[in-house]
This record gives sequence, C-alpha cells and structure tokens, in this order.
Amino acid sequence: MQRKKTKKIKIGNVFIGGNEPILIQSMLDKPFDNIESNIKQAQELEKAGCQILRVAVPDLQAVKVINILKRSVKIPIVADIHFDYNIAIESIHAGADKIRINPGNIEKNNLLKIANICSQKNIPIRIGINSGSVNKKFLEKYDNTADAMVASAKEIIDLFENFGFDKIIVSLKSSDIYNTIAAYEKMSKICDYPMHIGITESGTENYGIIKSCVGIGSLLTRGIGDTIRVSLSANHVKEIEVGYQILKSLGMLNCVEVISCPTCGRCTLDVKQLALEIENFTRNIRKKLKIAVMGCPVNGPGEARDADFAITGAHGTGLIFRKGKIIKRVPQNKLLEELKKLIFEL
Ligand code: SF4
Repeated sequence: MQRKKTKKIKIGNVFIGGNEPILIQSMLDKPFDNIESNIKQAQELEKAGCQILRVAVPDLQAVKVINILKRSVKIPIVADIHFDYNIAIESIHAGADKIRINPGNIEKNNLLKIANICSQKNIPIRIGINSGSVNKKFLEKYDNTADAMVASAKEIIDLFENFGFDKIIVSLKSSDIYNTIAAYEKMSKICDYPMHIGITESGTENYGIIKSCVGIGSLLTRGIGDTIRVSLSANHVKEIEVGYQILKSLGMLNCVEVISCPTCGRCTLDVKQLALEIENFTRNIRKKLKIAVMGCPVNGPGEARDADFAITGAHGTGLIFRKGKIIKRVPQNKLLEELKKLIFEL
C-alpha cells in the first residue's frame, strides 16, 4: 500500500502529512465553563497518547479554555468553531494551534478574515465538512452526498488559495461509511492537502468502534489519511486506544503485534491466556515485531510463517519458531519464559 504523499503542515509542535506518522486525535466533551474537568480530561487523553486535541469553542466566553489548556498539556490544541468568525479570531489570539471551521455555517468574507489572521500567525485551518451540515446549494446541485461534500470543501480551498492561504487540512466526514470513503477518494485525487479522517457519529462504544475500524481502516488501506479521530459516544480515552489499535493492525506503528489463533478442537495450549500475557509483556516495546500464538502444530507453523516468533503446543510439549523454523522445544509451562528471553535478546 502506497500512502498518498500530502503537503506537510505544522500544527503546534507536530507535523501532519508528508511522510510524518499518522497522528491520533480526540476531542474534549466537558462543558466549557467547567475548567477543572476540561483540564482533567485533556491530561487523561494526553497520557493515553492523544497527539492533537480539539475543543469546542461555542462562544467568546469559552475562548478562555484555550489558554488554560495550552498551559495544562503539551499537545497542540485545536479550536472547533461554528457560526461566528470572531470566536476563531479570539481563539487564535488565545493560543490555538489550529482552527477547525465548518464552511457550511460561516460566510465567505468572514472565512477570509480567519485565514488572514491564521496566515499572519502561521496557523493551519481544517476545512471540516460534515455530511449533516453541507450547504444546501451543493446538496441541490449534486445527486449524491459525497460529491456535495467534496464541492463544498473545494469551494473553500479555492477561496483560501486565491487569497494566498494554503495551510489547509481537509476532512469530509459522514456517519455513512460509503459516503465517507467516496468523498475522501474524490478529494484525494484533486488536492494534496493532509486529510483528517474518521467516521462521524459512529455510535456507542462497541458498535462505534467497529464502524470506525471499518471506515478508517478502509481509507488507510487506500493510502488516504494523515490524522485520525475515532468518534465514540463513550469515554474518549477509548478513542485513543482504538486509534492506536487501528494503526497497529495495519503495520503503521512501531510496536509488537501479537496474533493468535481462535483455537479449535485440536488446541493443546492455553492460547487465550498466553496471548494476553505476551500482549501485556510487549505493550511498551517500540519495535516492529509479529508474535504468533498458535494452539497446535497442524496449521500453526504455516499460519505463523510470517511472524518473527511463534509458539505452538505440540503433543504435550511446546515449540518456539523463529521466522517459521523451530528453534526450541520446551515444556509448555516454560514457553512464556523462553519467549521473553528471546525477545530480550533481540
Ligand atoms: S492453529 Fe491449530 S488449534 Fe489453532 S485454530 Fe488452527 S488448527 Fe485449531
């Protein structure tokens, strides 16, 4: 899979796009006037690995939260603005590292006022299209939502480019996976700006995770996406955890992937427990490794051929494989200990 090369854009102390790693975002969900809870959630998300943090700024009074967050966490803060361009301008002055605007609800001349200040301060703008708030004129003109979303974003891209502003990030989110993919694919063909991807309003924890994995995963396998947000009606720390798991499953993270068989009647090993223990043990290792835990030697070695290490049960004993070849035969209760030694040696 070839990742689409997009323009590299600086946001606070990180970069999005180009060859930079795909960054994981989330958003605060506390009332803006409850400062303590905003700080607490921001710090929890940062600790969980959130790399860019967005906060809704519904009115001028809420702007103060930007400055407070800037002093509370090190990750870039994005001000999410709807309707009133003055809030965007005040948020920039308060220290926001990026502005997210919804072009469907701010007038063009006011968008240019925001772009003007962002240009002076070297701050990027995300043109954040949501299928639910696409300007009516585009919905009437196009017979499908994806085309309407792309046209809506392109109008503002052209507006900003003609003005001389090109620190742009684009998002085209829908709660419908097919619309989302179609919109990003079309946009990816006509512009090189970094893409913020996600499935909006994906749902409650379990279903939302599945929907986000399918949608975000589909886009990433097409080479589209420079930063992701998993949107869940759940604790937002979960969004970060799921974001990392998505990137890990696609080999886009420097970390250990533990694969394990589902087990069946041939299983001679406690696969479920061993896989969990290996996952816990390797959680903080920053090296790309694949470790397979297979229940028996019938399909195990073959299925684990691509793994750096594999363990299987075999007639009362345990086998350890390195790149598909047996390197050790040990009692099953020693498998974990021996595997840990090999990982340490590596
Ligand atoms: S590896 Fe063996 S135990 Fe596991 S699912 Fe395949 S055949 Fe069954």
